[in-house]
Order: sequence, then C-alpha cells, then structure tokens
Amino acid sequence: YPTAPGTILLLTADTGGGHRAAAEALRQALQSRFSGRLVTVVCDPLTGVEAHRALRWTCRRYGPLVRWSPPLWGLLFHATNTTVTLPILRRALTRYARAPIAAALVRHRPLAVILLHPLLVSPAVAARRDCASGAPLVSVVTDLGTAHRGWWHPAVDRVVTPTPALARQAGRHAGTAPARCAALGIPVGAQFRAGPAGPDARATLRASLGLRPDRFVVLVAAGGEGGRRITAWTRTIITGVPDVDVVAVCGRDERTRARLDGLVAASGGRLTVTGFVSNMADWLRGADLLVTKAGPGTVAEAASCGTPMLLAGHLPGQENGNTEITVRAGAARPVRGRRQLRTQVDQLRSDPAALDRMRASAARLGRPAAAADIAELLARLTRPGDLRQAQPGKDRR
Ligand code: UDP
Repeated sequence: YPTAPGTILLLTADTGGGHRAAAEALRQALQSRFSGRLVTVVCDPLTGVEAHRALRWTCRRYGPLVRWSPPLWGLLFHATNTTVTLPILRRALTRYARAPIAAALVRHRPLAVILLHPLLVSPAVAARRDCASGAPLVSVVTDLGTAHRGWWHPAVDRVVTPTPALARQAGRHAGTAPARCAALGIPVGAQFRAGPAGPDARATLRASLGLRPDRFVVLVAAGGEGGRRITAWTRTIITGVPDVDVVAVCGRDERTRARLDGLVAASGGRLTVTGFVSNMADWLRGADLLVTKAGPGTVAEAASCGTPMLLAGHLPGQENGNTEITVRAGAARPVRGRRQLRTQVDQLRSDPAALDRMRASAARLGRPAAAADIAELLARLTRPGDLRQAQPGKDRR
C-alpha cells in the first residue's frame, strides 16, 4: 500500500468545461481540508499529454463537434448509451486509456482515485486490476438529470451523484448498494461559496468588472466551449429589450467572440464580450439574470450564487432533464425561441419580486459545500491515519 502517502489522483478530461471545473473544485477542497498534508495529481488520459495519440485526437474533436452540431453529438451520445454498444465503447477506451492510468497508479501510488468522466470509469477499473492497486475508486458524477451509462460500474467503490435519482440509477445499472452512493451535489469551486450578492454587493461587483453598476445586467454563457447560440441570444436581447446591458462569455469559442466583438462599438456601451473567464463566480454574482444552456456545471454554480436563470437550450444527451430539475426548483424558466427569450428578459427586468423569488429558489437548489463534503467522504474512505500521516507536498498537474 502507498509508499508516497497522501496522494489523491483525479482523473478527468478536457471535454467541455464541467469536468475540468469539478476536478479543480475538488482539488481546492482537498487542499483546504488537508492543508498541505496531501498531494493532488490531476491526470487527463483522454485529451492530455499522457493520452494515447488516437484517443487524444478523437476526444479533442468534442469541442468543435458540440459547437458545430449539437444534434450530431446527441446522436453519438445515444448510440453509445445502450447495453449493446456500451461494452464495445468500453473495450476501445480501455485498450487506449488503461496504460496512462496504470502508469499514474504505479508512479503516484494514490490513497484514492477520483473519476470525473464517464469514459474513464472502465479504463480505471482495468488499470487498477493491472497493477494490483488497492486504491478505492470514487466516481463523482458531473451530469445532473441524465447520466451516460459509462458512469455505472460494479467495481467502483463509491459513487457521488448530484441527486438521489441518479444514485438510484447506479443501483439499477451496476448493482451499487445505496450505502456506497452519496447524493452530495456537483462540486463547485470555493469562489462560489460566497452565496448570492445583495443589491449593493452586486453594484460593487459590476463596477469591479468594468460594468455599469446601476444597469440591469444579463449574463449570456454556453459552457466552456461556447457556441453559435451565444450570438443569437445576445443579438436578441440587445436589439429587442431596452435598458439592459449584456455580458457575453464565449468560453473557448474564439469565432463567436470575434463575431460579437464586432457588435460592441454599435451597442452604445451595452455589450461586453469576453473569452474564457476564470472568475465566473464574480460574473454570476454581479448579474441580475443568466441566459444559458442547461450545462450541469453552470447550473450548479449559478444556483450556488443565487443567480436566476433562463434556460434557452441544452446539449442533447447528457444535459436532457437538467432544465426540468432547475425549473421545478423555481430557479429557472425555460425559453424556446427568440420571441420567448425577449419577452422573458423584459418581464423579469420589470418584475423585481419575481426575480427575488427565483434568486431565493436558486440559492436553495445550490450545493456550494459539495466539494468540501466529497473531501470529507474521502477522508472517511481512505484508511484511517493515511491522510493524517501524509507528507507535506505540493500540487502536481
Ligand atoms: N467556464 C469558465 N469560464 C468560461 C466559460 C465557462 O470557467 O469562460 C466554466 C463554467 O464556470 C463551468 C464550466 O465551464 O464550470 C461549464 O460547465 P457546463 O457543465 O455548464 O458545460 P460544459 O462546458 O461542460 O458543456
């Protein structure tokens, strides 16, 4: 068992922004809980430098694909999410991804391995067997309403889900006993723990972000990869609703950013455009309203910040059902098409009481302590004393 005590291995993949954000949130929470007595290692066996070339090439097509054609992605999701096709997908993934995971297990001898991507579960199980590691596997499900079957595997020791309904799925699909499941929420970073901002704090935040403090601010975002719909939503609000300012967060979508940059000059100071931001909590807490797709990471973060949401779409596949959960909780309203988007923004702009109700519902839905709770679960799961005896060490990525 570990000769380098105190290492926790986080396996994630750079597909979308949600998996990476959850890994970072957990890394922060573990460092804070075990203050310097723990080393966290983040490994990306699908798209990182350690990945097999063929796998890296394939998985790096995820961003362009979901930007270009969400329905095509949905087709791929459903095609691989059946009892017939999943074993084929797993065999292929295991063939290419088990070696870098096994190498990380041998090199770091972790106390535990956290799985933050459904495509990594099966290769991690195989790699653990290959090198006879005793490290428990803990999967942290980063989907919300629907989860890909790849998440469920009987050999995983603990399954953390955002909702009890997904914990029950783990039982149905992989026979995971309820005692091995915990519905603790989606891990969000420490920056999201400050909770909702009152009117004064919102104004201060806006000023610090270069926005006009006294205006109604709508934040438009569509996950880490962005997408063309950001342009459509932004244009609709800027041209169709008076007296609102818009911040468009384009993530890694440089093309959309360039297109929207062209509208800034004509907007009379009403439009702010950014690329990938690393202070999402400030933008969310400073905004009156968020217009977004129903990405689980963004929904979890906005809920933690008490930001009311208009959900104007979702990625087919893993984001099915997210809108329903968020709308049922009273934290969001669904919008279909440009006319509804315009009407809803306009309505909420002139109805502060409705906005306050949504803000309170969002805050009730949020699980800002999820990452800290998962760190606690890990402390209980690893052998007693292992983490206490951990050597001081620095992070490696
Ligand atoms: N994100 C960010 N900066 C950006 C755009 C997105 O940090 O400029 C983060 C966002 O805070 C969230 C994640 O990317 O944590 C997006 O996750 P989500 O599950 O909503 O969508 P995905 O990108 O995985 O499709």
